[in-house]
Amino acid sequence: MKFYNTLHRKKEDFQPLEKGKVTLYTCGPTVYDYAHIGNFRAYIFEDLLRRYLEFSGYDVLQIMNITDIDDKTIRRSIEEKLSLENFTDKYTASFFEDVETLQILPAHHYPRATEFIPQMIETIQQLEDKGFTYTTEDGSVFFKISQFSDYGKLANLNPDQLKSGDRVEDDEYGKEEGRDFALWKGYKAQDGDVGWDSPWGKGRPGWHIECSVMSTHYLSNHFDIHCGGVDNIFPHHENEIAQSCAASGEAFVNYWLHNEHLLVDGQKMSKSMGNFYTLRDLLEKGCSPEALRYTLISTHYRSKLNFTFEKVKAAQKCINRLRELKRRLKKINNEEAEVLSAETESMLSKFSAKLGDDLNISGALGELFIWVNYLFAELDNDKLDCCSANGALSALRKIDSVLGVIECENLEVDDNIQELIIEREKARSDKDWDKADKVRGQLDELGIVIDDTPEGTVWKRK
Ligand code: AMP
Ligand code: ZN
Repeated sequence: MKFYNTLHRKKEDFQPLEKGKVTLYTCGPTVYDYAHIGNFRAYIFEDLLRRYLEFSGYDVLQIMNITDIDDKTIRRSIEEKLSLENFTDKYTASFFEDVETLQILPAHHYPRATEFIPQMIETIQQLEDKGFTYTTEDGSVFFKISQFSDYGKLANLNPDQLKSGDRVEDDEYGKEEGRDFALWKGYKAQDGDVGWDSPWGKGRPGWHIECSVMSTHYLSNHFDIHCGGVDNIFPHHENEIAQSCAASGEAFVNYWLHNEHLLVDGQKMSKSMGNFYTLRDLLEKGCSPEALRYTLISTHYRSKLNFTFEKVKAAQKCINRLRELKRRLKKINNEEAEVLSAETESMLSKFSAKLGDDLNISGALGELFIWVNYLFAELDNDKLDCCSANGALSALRKIDSVLGVIECENLEVDDNIQELIIEREKARSDKDWDKADKVRGQLDELGIVIDDTPEGTVWKRK
């Protein structure tokens, strides 16, 4: 298994620190608004990574933080005249709803930054004791980047770009400003009632220290994989490395994996550009969660992905084909033994090998659909025996443990659609053709196409 490690700018064999176990930290949402699907590209890439590691037999421990305090959350909660807690609770709850809708496996812990302030203060004190910091008149504490010789290695900064002694207070800033950054920010009037007592006076933590403290709290000082979008490489992850290694004196993370951006019309999808879709927006436009998931997964995580509705439609077609295969296999499936045919075994091992090459998803899906087409041909020619059909069904379940698009809660429980289908079937058995047509029209408006097969009516999304 190989992954592209941003730290060394090359693909490297993956060797976890402890045999059979993987410790994984994924930067989570800043809960100042609904997450957009660009953010979900990051979380879905991380989900694919986690599911693939589990598919390969690893026991994964995943932590995702919730950034419920930073420049943006404070500013927006004050604008909305809500306490920081009430304000961030609302967007944290909506984030969890979206995670569930998109079939993202929940992380094992979702620590909130505001629950870790004492530990952050403790780490800043350690850094202070070791001479990595200085305090300014307003009670802010800065990390002195000149004290940390590896500063700039992750983002591949040129040493001329580093201006230690110059300070930057904002949580986010550009590469050209490789400067001393804030670990602790002294209280200012614009922080409203947000602030904690500390050895440096009232204030609040900087964004970067949050992830250093919460990751090592659960995963120990040195762990396997840290992920995030490419915009996190600098300054966020660069600063995390500096703080964590300087505080513990140990190595921090072995593999840094970063996903490229989701674009709209060639521009990064982002709140500040105003060119974003939330999951809610897209569900209202009739996209299914599984088609969105497939769209976000099916382009390699290190390539830019331009979002279009055509891509979502194409994704839905692929899912429909997989579901249709499952339905036809189930039809001939019975209690007999399960046999993995040579074709099925070969597909599973090729699918896994492709993903093992830095999550080469197009290669993996290519192998899957060669097998799908082969099975349809076998089914059409009545050549598939029960045992092989059972084996194929179980392979499909394994594949879906990685893709997460075939079996879908939302699909099974779409009561409204099921009710309409029953109503239409009743109308048909009563020979009330007008009524049956009317219901078909209603389903069509909901984006559902139905097909009357010898085994009854089946439905799929357009
Ligand atoms: P934020 O809530 O801004 O801290 O972002 C949460 C995660 O989403 C981070 O890992 C970002 O790198 C990632 N992210 C933000 N915008 C995009 C985008 N347009 N495409 C892919 N990932 C993104
Ligand atoms: Zn982070």
